[in-house]
Amino acid sequence: MLIALAGATAASTARAQTPADWHRAVQQLLEKRARSVMAGDRAAFDATMSLAPRAFRAAKDTWFSRMRALPLGSYALALDANGYDDLADALATRPAADEVHVASALERIALKPYDATPSSEDLYLTIVRRGSTWSIVSDSDLDSLGLLSYRNAWDFAPVGQASRGGVLVLYQDDRATALPILSATQTAIAYDKGRWPLSWPGRIVVIIPKSTSELSRILQTTFDLGPFVAFTASSASRPNGEYRLTGNRVYVQPGTFFSTPLAFQADTLSHELLHVATRGYAGGFTPSWMDEGDAQDYGQRTLPALVDISARVANGTFTGHLPKDFEFSLGSDDDIHNSYEEASSFVSYLMSRFGKKAGANLYKALGNESPISFGTARYHLDHACRAAFGVGFDALERAWAQKIRKEFG
Ligand SMILES: [Zn+2]
Repeated sequence: MLIALAGATAASTARAQTPADWHRAVQQLLEKRARSVMAGDRAAFDATMSLAPRAFRAAKDTWFSRMRALPLGSYALALDANGYDDLADALATRPAADEVHVASALERIALKPYDATPSSEDLYLTIVRRGSTWSIVSDSDLDSLGLLSYRNAWDFAPVGQASRGGVLVLYQDDRATALPILSATQTAIAYDKGRWPLSWPGRIVVIIPKSTSELSRILQTTFDLGPFVAFTASSASRPNGEYRLTGNRVYVQPGTFFSTPLAFQADTLSHELLHVATRGYAGGFTPSWMDEGDAQDYGQRTLPALVDISARVANGTFTGHLPKDFEFSLGSDDDIHNSYEEASSFVSYLMSRFGKKAGANLYKALGNESPISFGTARYHLDHACRAAFGVGFDALERAWAQKIRKEFG
């Protein structure tokens, strides 16, 4: 089973209106650090953490070497204007210094030529001043509060690279595992391009982490990754109030993926890449059933057999309503399967009634709903259905449920 995940969204505490001096000093420190990464200047990089414990500096120097080995298009660090202003009061132990701050920073990484727009993820940096020297000293002090700095696969171990035709595979296992994934990803992109009616660049970074627990830390998931075989991850950001998913990555779940049949692996990759294809059209009101319905109906050769739906119709627990977002990741395996089945069968129903482009048309119409306008998600869903098909959502959902009840009743 598969799932799409959006990256962490911005925290809610707004920055204080009066800019204190430390904001400017810290912003300069972050910019200096980012520039040193781009320039490959390790001395300048080390200078931004001169007061840090030896172990932190050593770990970040290792990270620096691994970053420099990647096809880096851009690297940027900045204070997060929508993040927490200063979390220093939450520190269990305050480092000895003249000033201590814990700042929310955004780390933006673009790998060339795969990322049209960079990823954008949170770091929680402990930053101190002694005399006139500013230094980053930690990025994990608030882990116990669940404020986790983003980690990439190369934070854990060196990554190997295999690339061809717009696909980059980063792997921590042997190259013999990565090369078939590279070919399979190219095949999946070609398959999706032949099915998904809207345009997309067809470039992607696929990552094979070492272990399920490492993947869990990267995705910062709170649910069990056990039932899943692959993930699509993106950073969610709102530049100028616009909702955007950027820095798309496909993660292979190393604990399950390779033990599945090859045909299933192929469908898994084309399913995940279909998520990537839709990312450019996603909006703040795109429900999970829309994402999963399109990924299955456009991205898979084999659609789910509707076994869980038919069981629910038979025992009277079929609700006739499409699943809520959390129902794609929480609940029993049967519950999760049922959510996928309902999503697929609803999009299939739309296609049977409005043509093969119906799933893409509704996806696009939903993405066009403005995130800063008034109205509930339900209102926007209804509005998008009317824009795409001239029919409201309730009528569509009722007609689909009726069809299902007739088919399995
Ligand atoms: Zn999915």
